[in-house]
Amino acid sequence: MTSPRKKFVYAACTFIVVGLAIVVALVETQETALTIAFFAWIMGGAFLLTRIRCPNCDVPIVYQGKLGSISIYAGFARKKCQNCGEDLTEG
Ligand SMILES: [Zn+2]
Repeated sequence: MTSPRKKFVYAACTFIVVGLAIVVALVETQETALTIAFFAWIMGGAFLLTRIRCPNCDVPIVYQGKLGSISIYAGFARKKCQNCGEDLTEG
């Protein structure tokens, strides 16, 4: 079993590598299609990263806790779930 945090790290690395490839290709060719691909990549990446969830409480591992009544999500993963305290480096 891969831990949720490792999954996140792999997904984030893939996301960055693919993103760099798109940006380099975009700068080189200036293709409109690549501009669309670039935005699709940002939306897709954000979507995929929030799909990785705590195995205990099903909250996305990018959840950073609450600021007042607002739930905070950010592009990095905690070692412990900010909702239930589950260790996300296990498994
Ligand atoms: Zn949790």
